[in-house]
Amino acid sequence: MEEKIIAQKPAEGKPWDVVIIGSGPAALTAGIYTTRGAASTLILGGEKWGGQLMLTTEVDNYPALPGIQGPELMQKMREHSVMFGAEFVEQNVDAVDLAKTPFTISAGGTNYLAKSVILATGAETRWLSVPGEDKLRGRGVSSCAPCDAPFFKNKNVVVIGGGDSAMEEALVLVKYATSVTIIHRKGEFRASKAMQQKVIDLEKSGKIKIVWNTEVTEFVGEKKLEKVKTKDIKTGKESELAMDGAFVAIGHVPSTKIFKGKVTLDEKGYVEVAEKTKTSIPGVFVAGDVHDFHYKQAITAAGFGCQAAIDCLKYLDSAN
Ligand code: NDP
Repeated sequence: MEEKIIAQKPAEGKPWDVVIIGSGPAALTAGIYTTRGAASTLILGGEKWGGQLMLTTEVDNYPALPGIQGPELMQKMREHSVMFGAEFVEQNVDAVDLAKTPFTISAGGTNYLAKSVILATGAETRWLSVPGEDKLRGRGVSSCAPCDAPFFKNKNVVVIGGGDSAMEEALVLVKYATSVTIIHRKGEFRASKAMQQKVIDLEKSGKIKIVWNTEVTEFVGEKKLEKVKTKDIKTGKESELAMDGAFVAIGHVPSTKIFKGKVTLDEKGYVEVAEKTKTSIPGVFVAGDVHDFHYKQAITAAGFGCQAAIDCLKYLDSAN
């Protein structure tokens, strides 16, 4: 893509206008907006940059780009964000000092100074950590029904979990798969009553099967998932289910370890929003899955990135 640089780097020893931590859709969209606002922008993208989309295959729900591969989408976003002058560094952030301005962000042995910061480190799927899971991820084992459900048309799938995410995954999958089985480790769901009711209604009509008090002990398959091994927690009975897909929906873990004690987090570890995209610290903004556990989509993360950048540019204007 052709470069159209608008934002310039700060002079040696001077703070960046904005340091963005993260490199998923929220971070990279924020970078497009801050650079187009002529704010010097550093994106600390991490050694494994790109976020959750780097782990997916075809993305069919990103507007105007149906069928694009997740990594290609992220590459395009990266190129788009640096086009206007953002500097992208593939370093993990080790520590942040948000107690005084300019803020200090440490990554790869360098201390970067920042007038403002956008936290966009995202969230990671909580996985089961059972044998076969790592190997078969992207080959039948998934964590995103809205992304992958169409690949399981006329196939047999399981959903693991008992929260709203699991209900939602099952409700999406039922439109495609021949059979949807929910495996839950308890005898009741934790999900909201409304979501549960939709699933129970579909169980009554035979479209969804629920296996209670059962844990998944292994995913089995050579090139793709073939079987899911389970154990009844009450009786200890072990079983094997022939399956084409398994959707792990046991929650997410926000990537906020480095922000603990530096900015207010909620009880689940997500960055708490004070107002719009503002955090508890003036000049520190938040975007994407690191604060949003509700929508969790690439397009909503990108939208939050845009909002955080606009709020950040307003803050920089008022601070100057
Ligand atoms: P939750 O934490 O609500 O639920 C996680 C589920 O996974 C629980 O049923 C839990 O079991 C189970 N679980 C956790 N760890 C394991 C494990 N190691 N092995 C087996 N099962 C496990 O996460 P969700 O992602 O479902 O929801 C997160 C938040 O997002 C919630 O506040 C939810 O309301 C919200 N949300 C809202 C939606 C909506 O309104 N449309 C859609 C999706 C999410 P147990 O019950 O035994 O603890």
